[in-house]
Amino acid sequence: MSLWQDLPISHRYAELPQSFYTRVMPTPVDNPRWVSWNAPFAASFGLGETPDDLWLQIFSGGEVPDYFQPLAMKYAGHQFGVYNPALGDGRGLLFGAIADQQGRWFDVHLKGAGLTPYSRMGDGRAVLRSTIREYLCSEAMAALGNQTTRALGMMVSDTPVYRERVEQGALLIRLAETHIRFGHFEHFFYTGQHDDLRLLADKVIAWHFPELTAAEVPQDNVYLAMFRQIIERTAEMIAFWQAYGFAHGVMNTDNMSILGQTFDYGPFAFLDDYDPRFICNHSDHQGRYAFDMQPGIGWWNLTALAQALTPLIDKDALEAVLQTYTTRLNQEYSRLIRCKLGLQQRRDGDSELCDDLLNLMAENRVDYTLFFRRLSSLDQQPLDTVTTLFDNQTAALAWLQRYLSRCEQETDSRGQARTVAARCQSMREVNPKYILRNYLAQQVIDAAEQGDFQPLEQLIAVLRRPYDEQPQHERYAALPPAWGKCLEISCSS
Ligand code: AMP
Ligand code: MG
Repeated sequence: MSLWQDLPISHRYAELPQSFYTRVMPTPVDNPRWVSWNAPFAASFGLGETPDDLWLQIFSGGEVPDYFQPLAMKYAGHQFGVYNPALGDGRGLLFGAIADQQGRWFDVHLKGAGLTPYSRMGDGRAVLRSTIREYLCSEAMAALGNQTTRALGMMVSDTPVYRERVEQGALLIRLAETHIRFGHFEHFFYTGQHDDLRLLADKVIAWHFPELTAAEVPQDNVYLAMFRQIIERTAEMIAFWQAYGFAHGVMNTDNMSILGQTFDYGPFAFLDDYDPRFICNHSDHQGRYAFDMQPGIGWWNLTALAQALTPLIDKDALEAVLQTYTTRLNQEYSRLIRCKLGLQQRRDGDSELCDDLLNLMAENRVDYTLFFRRLSSLDQQPLDTVTTLFDNQTAALAWLQRYLSRCEQETDSRGQARTVAARCQSMREVNPKYILRNYLAQQVIDAAEQGDFQPLEQLIAVLRRPYDEQPQHERYAALPPAWGKCLEISCSS
């Protein structure tokens, strides 16, 4: 099957009352054209290798067939700690949901579609550079194993978009199992529309957590069970960010998916040098969303969601279940770091070993990704491939010796000493060689702004296999050049 109209399509969101959204058609753009099509992801829907011209028409403001019912969702949210009631899809439209070949439903959302009632001072458009960044990073995160929104492809047009300069406009077809954010619940809570709040919760459960309506779950607790799921998934998402060195940059509650998926890619960055205080968002002067603040902000955002759920769930129960967040996050983070270090068994002193490493890496400004990849290659490479990453090589060597003697205590399932090769092999499966460094994204953007989209395709192909050696693509694993380390990524998009 390759035709869009043959896909299973649902309008589940459009069937909700009018208080949830406004119906809006996309505003046409000039000379729209496809610049990238995510063929591997499209294949999971049974869609073909190349994009359909009909889709181009539909998404760029041509006639929208009946099987889509575009709408702008209404939501609110806390931005940098301040409640903003006036949010909603200001430049994106939800067209409907399509099912993949396994029957999983994905919202089809067009980002950059034009003005909506929630556009406020904005123009409803998205620029090429930010569209490329979202497209690239969501694919990179998915390949790393993180829960994330995806994209089916992107288009550009000749409609100019005015930011600090005139830029090319682009459109992203974003797919996600949900586009419901913490801020959707906040909107209905703060406007006192508590019947709609309950309806939203009922729909979230029916669409995303149907297992919670099973007979075993006490029905008076179904909303609490939903919140518990949201907490758990959020904790797991943030543990992943911390373990893989990902800084989101704008963790406002309107950018938090209720499914714990990385959502709304803005001025994000993967760490180059390990710096826990790293702030990727040029506009975040206080460092509210600094890398090491993310776990605490996850908590803050969940308490904001808890507040919005008070009409449905008893306050004491909310407070009690919130306590599970930190435990789950620490548990998951520790699991991921153990995998990264190749330690399968727990031993006294493991936490100190890990803390000492992170402190040493911070002091020596060691590249986070490269360090773990080289540590994973000690079955093939000498120790100094790791120690040379540190200014203080003596301290690095002392840590490595502690680590290696700790590794010698590892045993396999038959109680035999685990081989170095087995350890390193398992580590290479979790420590990426290729991540989306900001400078790589910037090189692709520079080429795309000159009309060359080949580098984008090339980079995406590399990032789809982050754990493979790919010797022919070694250059994508290189450390950033000096200009690439201090790129300032603004919120303007
Ligand atoms: P963001 O900071 O991208 O998460 O967006 C925050 C809010 O601003 C959301 O309601 C967006 O829909 C809206 N928004 C962002 N950029 C634009 C734009 N260019 N035009 C209209 N609304 C926008
Ligand atoms: Mg957003």
